[in-house]
Amino acid sequence: MRRALLLVPALWIGALLAAPAGAVKAVATLPDLAYFAKVIGGQKAAVTTLCPGTVNPHFLETKPSHVTSVSQADLFLEVGLALDLWAAPLRRAANNKHLIVVTCSKGCTILEKPTGIVDPSQGHMHPQGNPHIWLHPRNAMLIVSNILGGYKAADPANVAYFTANAKALLEKIQTSSSAWRTKLAKVNGQGYVSYHPSFEYLADYAGLHRVATIEPKPGVPPPSGRVAQVIQLVKAQKVKLLLQEPYYPGGAAQSVAQATGAKYLVLPTLSGGVPGTEDWLKLMQYNVDKLCAAIG
Ligand SMILES: [Zn+2]
Repeated sequence: MRRALLLVPALWIGALLAAPAGAVKAVATLPDLAYFAKVIGGQKAAVTTLCPGTVNPHFLETKPSHVTSVSQADLFLEVGLALDLWAAPLRRAANNKHLIVVTCSKGCTILEKPTGIVDPSQGHMHPQGNPHIWLHPRNAMLIVSNILGGYKAADPANVAYFTANAKALLEKIQTSSSAWRTKLAKVNGQGYVSYHPSFEYLADYAGLHRVATIEPKPGVPPPSGRVAQVIQLVKAQKVKLLLQEPYYPGGAAQSVAQATGAKYLVLPTLSGGVPGTEDWLKLMQYNVDKLCAAIG
C-alpha cells in the first residue's frame, strides 16, 4: 500500500490531502472541463486533470498514475465525439464499478459532421463531427449543465450547493460573453487558416470563416505542395489570420505568413496552453484579445 502511494504524483497526493472527507472525487480529461468541475464542486469536490493544456488532446499518453486516479474517482468527465478516445481504455484499466461517466458534449450542436463514410485508416480524426466544442460560450454553458448533472448523481445530499455554484458560473460566463461579443464585432466576417480545425467553434462565435487548414483532413499531415496551395487561397481571399495550435508544428503556417503578410497567431485551445490562460475564462479572454489585436 505504501509502495503504491509512492507511485502517485505529488500533485495528485496534494489534491487528495486537500479534499475534505466525503468530497466528490472527479477526474476530467481536459483542463477546461476540470475548471468547470472545480467551480461547481467548490469545497465539496477534489478535481484531477489528465491532459495538460500544452498537449494535443487527441493524443494523451496515459500513465499508471492516471489509472490510479480513475480507479478511486466518483465522477469521470470527458468530451466524447471521439476527441478523448484514450479515456475509454483508461477506464477499462481502472475497472471502477461505481464510476459515473459524464459525456460533456451532450446537447451541443456539432459542426462539420462528415457526410458519407469516414475511413479512420486515412488518419481522419473527427468521425463524429468537430469535437473541439469548448471554445464557444454556448457550449461551455451546456458543459456546465452536464457536469452539474454528474455531481447531482454522485452526491445527492449536496444538490443545492452544486446548483448554486453552477448558477453563479453560468451567470459569469454570460456576462463575460456579452463583453467578448461586443469586442469581437471588429473581426466579424474575417477569413482564417488554422493547422487543424481546432478553432471552428470559436470562429462560429466570433463570426470568422475558415478558408483552409494546413492539414488536408483532420489528423492528416500536410503533403508536399500543401503550403503553396494555402498561400494561393490566402492571397486570393485576402486572409489576415493564421491560427496555430501550440502543440502542432508551426513551420507551414509561418511560411504562409511570410509569403502573404497574414498574421501568424499561436492561440491556445486549452486553458494552460500558454501563460496567462490558467482557466477557461482567461483562455477565452486571451483568444478574443489576440484576434482583435491582430485585425487592428
Ligand atoms: Zn481535432
